[in-house]
Amino acid sequence: MTREADILLSNAIVITMDENFNQYEPGALVVSGDSILAVGPEQEIKNSFTAAETIDCGGKVIMPGLVNAHTHVPMTLLRGLADDLRLDVWLLGYMMPVEREFVSPDFVRLGTELACVELIRSGVTCFADMYYFEESVAQATAEAGLRAVCSQTVMKYPTPDADFYEESLAAAREYIQRWKGHPLIVPSVAPHAPYTCTEDILRATAELAVEFDVPLHTHIAETALEVENARQEYGMPVIPYVKKQNIFDAKVLAAHCVHIDNGEIQTLLHHKAGVAHNPSSNMKLASGFAPVVKMLEAGLNVGIGTDGPASNNDLDMFEEVRLASFMAKANSGDPTALPAQQTLAMATRLGANALHIGHLTGSLAPGKRADLILIDINTLHNAPRFRREPDGIYAQIVYAAKSSDVSDVMVNGKWLMRSQQLTTLDEDNLYEQTAEYSKNIDVFLIQREQSVLSKLIAIGGASEAESFEVQAKVRISDPQPVLAAIEQPSLEILHTRHYHEYDTYFSFEDQNQGYLRYREDEFIDESGEVSKIRYRLTLLGPAREDHFPSDVLLSRSRFIAPATHSLRFYREYFKPSGESFIEKDRLRWRVLFQGTEFYINLDHLEKPDLGYFLEVKSRTWSSRDAQHKASLAEGLITFLGASPEKTVAKDYIEFVETA
Ligand SMILES: [Zn+2]
Repeated sequence: MTREADILLSNAIVITMDENFNQYEPGALVVSGDSILAVGPEQEIKNSFTAAETIDCGGKVIMPGLVNAHTHVPMTLLRGLADDLRLDVWLLGYMMPVEREFVSPDFVRLGTELACVELIRSGVTCFADMYYFEESVAQATAEAGLRAVCSQTVMKYPTPDADFYEESLAAAREYIQRWKGHPLIVPSVAPHAPYTCTEDILRATAELAVEFDVPLHTHIAETALEVENARQEYGMPVIPYVKKQNIFDAKVLAAHCVHIDNGEIQTLLHHKAGVAHNPSSNMKLASGFAPVVKMLEAGLNVGIGTDGPASNNDLDMFEEVRLASFMAKANSGDPTALPAQQTLAMATRLGANALHIGHLTGSLAPGKRADLILIDINTLHNAPRFRREPDGIYAQIVYAAKSSDVSDVMVNGKWLMRSQQLTTLDEDNLYEQTAEYSKNIDVFLIQREQSVLSKLIAIGGASEAESFEVQAKVRISDPQPVLAAIEQPSLEILHTRHYHEYDTYFSFEDQNQGYLRYREDEFIDESGEVSKIRYRLTLLGPAREDHFPSDVLLSRSRFIAPATHSLRFYREYFKPSGESFIEKDRLRWRVLFQGTEFYINLDHLEKPDLGYFLEVKSRTWSSRDAQHKASLAEGLITFLGASPEKTVAKDYIEFVETA
């Protein structure tokens, strides 16, 4: 008596990737509905089953489809947008500003469709995604027929789909409610990373994931800097910190885990967290080498992911699997590290376990969903084939086969590709729509890159704030007369400050751009100690906006903002054509002179060693007011015992302007 089935795949090299790494050659597999009914030696299967359709696989490999354990699929539309940059410049300078401008449900849908073409063609049947408007990712993925864990991003910054995190959290809840129980999509929530989330966000997302029993997808310990910052800020590395916020109450999928120690590996294991290892992304962004062998030895479910196609720049899991193995060998100096069989297990069964859907997919076993691929190894670049060692087939797939050898893909019992023809997606149509996006993004960035100001606004998250000030600056040989004059009762002192300032000026080929000043202000208290440090970024006007008699200046400061990134970040982002550095000690008074408010700065320039300068300045809003204040400024300079004539600090200005 034989049992009825829908599809019988025969005459194949069946690699089950199950716990025992069972293989059958010639082998066969039976599909009924969305699931695998049986798998085994061909004759045995044929004796037990008849099917509506029997397919001769012609000696191809049948194996479970690959699981891409961490990606951001809509970012296919940002592929090649900006490369060879450091993570912060790449992310904050390019990706996030472009995403804020362009990412919409339509963008996400198109990017996902584009990704699905690439994923299906390279033998991926399941992936874990994290992005904005994740419901559109879920929709497009379900229509393409792929399986995925689709995670809605939540973070502390405004995102393309939410101004506040409460909004994205509420959207995540509704989205999870709508999609929970879908045959292909597992909805999930993604607190983006510990450093882009607050403690509240980490706790709230963990609670949400627990409430609906869905995975929680996040980035953990991707760079050494992230760990260093966590140690400084919280006094502990990243994993203990997120544990404190209860995220391990949820079923965690942690991407990267590059910089974690043995104790942290044990924590991940104890909480049954899955890990996504991303070799291309970690190498391209020089993030480091994840302790993959240690994690596997400890018994963790470590899958392999491509990460987003903007930091890879492809979704090719064949390449990723090969790199994972090579990277482990090169990094450990041990060629036996991460052998082909184990690496392929990471890309299938362990990956599915890491996504917390190992009961559904990841290996060819009766009862699991029919998620499988056929690989044609009868090609010259795969030849010859040695049969002496049965496990040689793993090396053949991992080290020699290419994604273009994948001929057929089935997910949930349905063919998504037959003989390299896609059944659910229209590639030509996608190509045209993609070109439209890249054209618009190019125009946006070309415009932005023309102006230092717009580049500044793109990363500053602040708006343009224009202020004019009247400014008189003179060089003096001796500060004593100034100090004595300030003591006079006719000058009302409102406020006194002492700073040590380190200024870096960026200049640009186009002088109309002005100068960008990165200032580190050390506040010096009465005992001479540094009490506080402030970092500020100021875009100064091109030069003097207007001249007054005796060279009192009207200057324009177009933008001022706290400098939240490093000087190195600004240098790599703005790419100045010149740079100069000034270090000075500054005594500053806010005073009332003849009823008008002025700042008096008494500067001692230490680098370059230019001696003492006296500067008086006052904010102004109209040209009549400026004229009035310019003559008052001259009066104040004279009052302070210096001469406003001839002594204008040309060398100081020239130093900055010729930098
Ligand atoms: Zn990522």
